Amino acid sequence: MSDGMGGGRPGPGALIFDVDGTLAETEELHRAAFNAAFAAHGLGWHWDRPTYGALLAVTGGKERIRAYRDRHAFALPRETDIAGLHADKTRRYGRMVAEGALCARPGVLSLVAEARGHGLRLAVATTTSPDNVEALCRALWQRPAGEIFDVIAAGDEVGAKKPAPDVYLLALARLGIAGEAALAFEDSAVGLASARAAGLKVVACPSLYMSGDDFAGAWWLTPSLDGAWRHIAASF
Ligand SMILES: [Mg+2]
Repeated sequence: MSDGMGGGRPGPGALIFDVDGTLAETEELHRAAFNAAFAAHGLGWHWDRPTYGALLAVTGGKERIRAYRDRHAFALPRETDIAGLHADKTRRYGRMVAEGALCARPGVLSLVAEARGHGLRLAVATTTSPDNVEALCRALWQRPAGEIFDVIAAGDEVGAKKPAPDVYLLALARLGIAGEAALAFEDSAVGLASARAAGLKVVACPSLYMSGDDFAGAWWLTPSLDGAWRHIAASF
């Protein structure tokens, strides 16, 4: 690359990343944590990928447990035990993240490094909690989130979650740039809609569970971010 994007070419000034499904396949770890908790509680349940994929339509972990129990007319867990079972799952998930069970999706680490090296600013726009962002960054980069991303817009900082544009608009405001100056990275149609509504071009890189989504309107639809910097530098 001759000039990078700091030269005459009007490349993006910032990259803004979704977290769950985009930086890492977090749902697979959630699924593993659910299954470990089920085994520890002697339920005899195992959620395979198709089962969990269908359950993702139910929002919330406790709600997913309840929906599965009711769908199959299982007697257990009792209603009063669901919160405890889910708390156990959450502890297991946190431990797994801390132990390094998550790895970055292909291309993510090099894309972040290349963009940083070319002087772009980096941000996160996610509806997951700031704690989860922190845990994930420590797992992926062995560094605090604030050392990887200049701006973090996360959790309940905005009123309307994706697909509303709010969290992207917040990230843009904190970066001090307009939507056209940034490029978003998303793994789902809901995230794509959010970023587009905020005026961003979007790289859509579908995650395992979102591969059936409709990604029409993406600036670039790719199965992997491996080598993404070259494409972005040449095409933005
Ligand atoms: Mg996502």
